[in-house]
Amino acid sequence: TTYTPDQNRYGRLDYQRCGKSGLMLPPVSLGLWHNFGDTGNYDTMRRMMFTAFDNGITHFDLANNYGPEPGSAEVNAGRILHKDFAGHLDELVISTKAGFEMWEGPYGNWGSRKYLLNSLDQSLERLGLDHVDIFYHHRMDPKTPLEETMGALATAVSSGKALYVGLSNYDGQTLEEAAKILDELHVPFIINQNRYNILDRTVERNGLKETARRLGKGLITYSPLEQGILTDRYLKGVPSDSRAARGEMDASEVDRTAAKVVKLNEIARRRGQSLAQMALAWLLQDDTVTSVLVGASRPEQILDDLKAVGNTEFSTDELKSIDAISQA
Ligand code: NDP
Repeated sequence: TTYTPDQNRYGRLDYQRCGKSGLMLPPVSLGLWHNFGDTGNYDTMRRMMFTAFDNGITHFDLANNYGPEPGSAEVNAGRILHKDFAGHLDELVISTKAGFEMWEGPYGNWGSRKYLLNSLDQSLERLGLDHVDIFYHHRMDPKTPLEETMGALATAVSSGKALYVGLSNYDGQTLEEAAKILDELHVPFIINQNRYNILDRTVERNGLKETARRLGKGLITYSPLEQGILTDRYLKGVPSDSRAARGEMDASEVDRTAAKVVKLNEIARRRGQSLAQMALAWLLQDDTVTSVLVGASRPEQILDDLKAVGNTEFSTDELKSIDAISQA
């Protein structure tokens, strides 16, 4: 079957500028960390990407190591992009990253110039693209000089292999130091990718959120559904087709969070939203957040998640209750 994107795909979402940059992102973006590797179902992958794009999701997020096997998510995504999205590639923002272990030996991990630039070349090869839109350093490297890592990102841009750069899993202080170097090098650094959701408030505590806002950088939040915990997935135990049952996440977290999730689900119900929708809406009501980066195992989840944009208003009481449940 050939895929023809929905003609009305751009009428559904409001695209937001990524910080003070010219690049606009959809409020909901799709991440290909899980369910796009060798163990995923190719037809389901295609249908998820079609559902996303048909509904205005123009951003797909990858990393060198997404799989399993590491690299296979880029291979599968690249195949789908070429076979099904040919003619629409410039309508998409494709990101990838390097920073976690990708290959054996001293050059396949962390933040050296050697690793980052070799890895980017490998990612482009797997994706079958001559550039990505955003190239991220995937995590802070305490042992490599920040100048070297940022210099590698600068080269990624000057060599035409990335249009923009981003930082992932940085804290506020390191972000600020990195941004200064990138500014001096005139690198279009526009986005931070960090874990943020109702239950995980790390970026509120480590300065990342405040610094990103102050510097005019975008923030795309990963695991906004706490890997599925902030949905109705686990309200009645652990279903066999879930990420927790597949052993792809710490299943004990399901038990630890169960009481909170029941209370949050009650607030969502009163708002007329699914818990997933409320969890995403809670992030989107914060104007520091450019986009929420969801994962999915089936197209219907993406449709459910997208409905979050229909109600992102929260009363002060609701926000207070959500904070209290989160902190309990
Ligand atoms: P989420 O918190 O969105 O979790 C996604 C999972 O939640 C799905 O696989 C599915 O679980 C479940 N789900 C999604 N929507 C619904 C729904 N409407 N109803 C019920 N269940 C639902 O995000 P991820 O943890 O997957 O992360 C998203 C993306 O963020 C990744 O793909 C990756 O691109 C990026 N990321 C980046 C990291 C970094 O270090 N920079 C680290 C982690 C992620 P199930 O499979 O059980 O159906």
